[in-house]
Amino acid sequence: MVTKNVKAYGTEASNAPLKPMKIKRREITSKDIEIEILYCGVCHSDLHTARNDWGGTIYPAVPGHEIVGKVTKIGSDVTKLKVGDFAGVGCLVDSCRECDSCKHDLEQYCLTGIIGTYNGPDKHLGGHTFGGYSEKVVVDEHFVLKVPSNLNLAAAAPLLCAGITTWSPLRHWKVGKGSKVGVVGLGGLGHMAIKLAKGLGAEVTLFSRTPDKKKDALELGADEVIISTDPQHMKSVRGKFDLIIDTVPYIHDINPYVSTLNISGTLVLVGYLGGLEPLLNTVPMILGRKSVAGSVIGGIAETQEMLDFCGEHNIVSEIEIIKMQDINGAYERMLKSDVRYRFVIDMASLK
Ligand code: NAP
Ligand code: ZN
Ligand code: ZN
Repeated sequence: MVTKNVKAYGTEASNAPLKPMKIKRREITSKDIEIEILYCGVCHSDLHTARNDWGGTIYPAVPGHEIVGKVTKIGSDVTKLKVGDFAGVGCLVDSCRECDSCKHDLEQYCLTGIIGTYNGPDKHLGGHTFGGYSEKVVVDEHFVLKVPSNLNLAAAAPLLCAGITTWSPLRHWKVGKGSKVGVVGLGGLGHMAIKLAKGLGAEVTLFSRTPDKKKDALELGADEVIISTDPQHMKSVRGKFDLIIDTVPYIHDINPYVSTLNISGTLVLVGYLGGLEPLLNTVPMILGRKSVAGSVIGGIAETQEMLDFCGEHNIVSEIEIIKMQDINGAYERMLKSDVRYRFVIDMASLK
C-alpha cells in the first residue's frame, strides 16, 4: 500500500515526554477521506494512553482523538464530504460494521472490538493507529463527521470526544426538560456535560472538589455547585438526581454520589476505569432501585446528532489554545486539574 510520511508528536515510552516524530499515513482508498488536521483537543485519555495508565499502550504512541480539519483528498466512492469541507474525527476510525452493535449504530460497542483513532490495530498498514497530534489523517468516510459551519473550529474539536462521551448517556437516559442531572468533576468532559444537559433543558448541578471553579460552573450553565469534599453540602442534595455523570479520571468513593440519586436514578461512570474502592454499598441501590452504570463515547450517527445539536444551539467547548511543543506542560497542568476547560492544539505549530 502506498504511504506517505507525516509529522507527528508522540512518545516512545510511558515515562518519556512527547517529542516530534514521523509516522506513516496511507494513501486514500476509494472510501477514504484525507484530512489536514487544523486543531486537536487534548483529552485526559491521551495522557492515560501516553503514560500507559491502563496498560496496553503500544509505543511509539501518538495520541489525539478530538480532530478537526480540512478535507484535502477524497476517494472515488466518497459522498459524505468534498475537498475543502471541514471534517471531524473522534475516538473511532473503524469497527467490524457487521455485528449487532455496528448494525445498530453502536460502533463504540463493536463486538469484535473497536479500532481506536490511536493505539488500535491498523487494518490497512499493520501495526497500530496514530492519533491526531499530527499533520494529516486518513479515515474511512463512515467514521468522518461533518462539523457545523457556524461553530468555531478550534472550540468544536473537543465535541468529538468530550462532547459525545457526555451526550451519549444524556440521550440514553432520556434527559430532557425537568430532568435533574448531576455532573462530577469540572474538566473537559464535565464542562461539556453541563452545557449539553442545559441545552436539553435539564436542571444541572456540578459536584466539584475545587471551590474556586464555582463561578465558572454557574457561567457555564450549572444551577448549583456542591463541594464534594463537604459532607454537609453533599447531604443537602440527597435523593435529588435522575442521572449523574461521573467524569473523575482516578479511583474515588462513589457511594456519597449514589445517595444523591432519586428513586430509579442512575450514576453513570465515564471517567475511571477499574475496580472500585471503597466497595459499592448495595443498600441504597436496592432500597431505591438505583443503578450504577458505565458508558463509552458514542456511535457515529449519535456523534453527528450531537454535532448538529451543538450547531443549532451554538454549543462549543471553553478552550485554551496551545502549541504542539507545549503538550508536556499541558499534561502536567491537566494532572493538577488546571485546565479551563480543554487544551486544543493549534496544528499549525507542528509545521
Ligand atoms: P480532565 O479535563 O482532567 O477533568 C477531570 C476532572 O475530574 C478534573 O477537572 C477534576 O474536577 C476532577 N478530578 C480530577 N482528579 C480527581 C481526583 N483524583 N478525585 C476527584 N476528582 C478529580 O479530564 P477529562 O478529559 O474530562 O476526562 C475525564 C476522564 O474521562 C478521564 O479518565 C478520561 O480518560 C475519561 N474519558 C472517558 C471516555 C469514555 O468514553 N468513557 C471518553 C473520554 C474521556 P474538579 O476540580 O471539579 O473536582
Ligand atoms: Zn477522549
Ligand atoms: Zn462490530
